[in-house]
This record gives sequence, C-alpha cells and structure tokens, in this order.
Amino acid sequence: MTKTVVITGANRGIGFELVKCYLANGDWHIIAACRSPESAKALNSLADATDGDIEIVQLDVANADSVAAFASAIGDRKIDVLINNAGVIGGDHQSLGDIDYDEWMETLAINTLGPVRVTEALISNIRKSDNGKIVAISSQLGAMQYQTQGRFAYNSSKAALNRAMTLLASQLRSESIIVAMYHPGWVQTDMGGQQADITPPESANSLFQCFEKLVLADTGKFFKWNGEPHAW
Ligand code: NDP
Repeated sequence: MTKTVVITGANRGIGFELVKCYLANGDWHIIAACRSPESAKALNSLADATDGDIEIVQLDVANADSVAAFASAIGDRKIDVLINNAGVIGGDHQSLGDIDYDEWMETLAINTLGPVRVTEALISNIRKSDNGKIVAISSQLGAMQYQTQGRFAYNSSKAALNRAMTLLASQLRSESIIVAMYHPGWVQTDMGGQQADITPPESANSLFQCFEKLVLADTGKFFKWNGEPHAW
C-alpha cells in the first residue's frame, strides 16, 4: 500500500536528495514542501517525469499562514513520515561582540519553531498512520559536547530543536509515534559548502535507510547520519 512522506525544504540540498531516495525506494507518495515552488526547477522537472508520485506544495515553515495553508492542502490524508529538513545557517554576525539579534530570531523561527509548527499542524494526519514517524534534521553543532566557537544563532537553534523534539517524543510515545533527530553529516550543499565530507546522495541514502529502520525504542534519540547514536 502506498505510504506518504512529507519533506520540508525539498527543492535543494539534502531535502531534494531525500525526495529522490523515496522515489527510488518503494511505493511512496512524496509531498515535497518548498518555499517557492515556481522557482524549484530541478524539483519540478523530477515531478514532471513521474506519474504523480511527487506533489509539490508551498510551505514557509516560519510563516503561520503558510503552514495553515499547507495543512489545508493535505486535508485529512494520512502521513506516515514527516521529515523536518528545512533550515538556515544564518549570516556572519553570530559571534560575541557582533551578534545580530534579529537574525537570531529569524533563525529560531525557521530552525526551531518551524519543525514544531509543522508537526503540530500535521499531527492529526500522522496519527492516522499505523507507524507514524517524525524526523528532525538537526546538527552536531546543536550538541553541548561539540566544541565550537561562535554561531550563537545556528547552534542554539539546533540545541533548542533537539529539546523540543524530545518533548514531542515523550508526549507521542504512548501513541506509538516515533520522533527522532539526526545529524546528517557534513554535507556538500549550499549550506555545507563543497569542501564538506560527504555528498548529498551519501547522506540522504543513509538517512533514508535509518528512517526505515526506526522503532519505538528509538524515540527521543539523536543519531548520526549513519545510524550511530549522537552525543547530546
Ligand atoms: P541547503 O541550504 O542546501 O537547503 C536548505 C533548504 O531549507 C532549502 O530547500 C531552503 O529553501 C529550505 N528553507 C530554508 N528556510 C525555509 C523556510 N523558512 N521555509 C521552508 N523552507 C526553508 O541546506 P542543507 O540541505 O544542507 O540542509 C538541510 C538541513 O540539514 C538543515 O536543517 C541544516 O541545518 C541541516 N544540516 C546540514 C548540514 C550540512 O553540512 N549541509 C550539517 C548539519 C545539519 P529555499 O531554497 O527556499 O531557501
């Protein structure tokens, strides 16, 4: 039977590669969410080449009206997997003495509030699945144990994302809905840069395999892209 996955930030980077993974692996209806569908050329081309397997829907995860319209577009359909992937790293003003607080707020709105907002809007759809999964693409930079300098906005947004997702996990556990967080690796995308360790397909293919293997015992946990546990 066809399962449905929602992927945010599906037009480029890791999100786009995840779309390709779901397309290539089994019977999935893919709801590819992106901020500007009209300019998502590669995603539109891929969707046009399939037989309706990819449905492109506008979604700005930081905009309440956009999230509400997105939920309306989905209606009362079942969602089996929600992948909260969309994110921003923010600009250069993230170190002591030069912090741009407006940008920090924007980063939190996208990276932290966005995934919770989208999850809350779609929770009734996820509850319709027998095996509902909610995934957040977090970052090692959100881990307290990761020694790093600067990046107040990005690092704190991912740390807070992890905390919010663990709260969701504990609230949804009794309903057998799994919530898991992943560091996707250092990936060659617009965000990661071309000097990064791994390619988007390497990251996305491994993440896909991990998501498929998730069981309730994994809920509330933070993993690396290869499925190993990640330190908090
Ligand atoms: P990219 O910069 O390549 O892509 C980011 C995606 O997020 C784009 O599709 C972008 O859309 C979308 N996005 C940004 N803001 C919003 C918004 N408000 N609403 C909806 N979509 C939005 O990044 P990656 O693919 O590398 O990153 C994906 C995820 O992985 C992020 O959460 C990132 O933090 C995380 N990550 C990445 C790492 C890396 O090395 N690349 C390492 C650790 C974590 P648009 O095209 O419209 O801007």
